[in-house]
Amino acid sequence: MTDCIFCRIIAGEIPSAKVYEDEEILGFRDINPAAPVHVLFIPKKHFANLGEAAPADQALLGRMLQVIGREAPKLGLSEGYRVVSNCGEPAGQTVNHFHLHVLGGRELQWPPG
Ligand code: 5GP
Ligand code: ZN
Repeated sequence: MTDCIFCRIIAGEIPSAKVYEDEEILGFRDINPAAPVHVLFIPKKHFANLGEAAPADQALLGRMLQVIGREAPKLGLSEGYRVVSNCGEPAGQTVNHFHLHVLGGRELQWPPG
């Protein structure tokens, strides 16, 4: 998907501050951070959001959560953090390549806006 900004980050066509990479997942810092630590974890395989994930993506989705749990302390988030995915425009999704936001480093309010 050459018109997808995250696919272009995966391809190395757009630079990013990477914090994690394996064969199917990339983690990089959000360009417009909403918290002192704001990292995006994305699958290297393109799909728009959770609703577009295929049955075959089940293990990948689970592994993304496990990777976040393992990497969060290394990002300085031992005290706590939030994992969020905005699915669809009304929820605030602006990039149509599935991603999990990992936010922390400050007190986070609940419920979110
Ligand atoms: P969404 O609004 O879709 O849930 O989240 C998309 C996120 O991607 C936003 O927080 C936005 O700041 C981030 N973002 C958009 N374009 C880029 C980019 O080119 N590089 C990086 N690192 N983050 C981006
Ligand atoms: Zn993409």
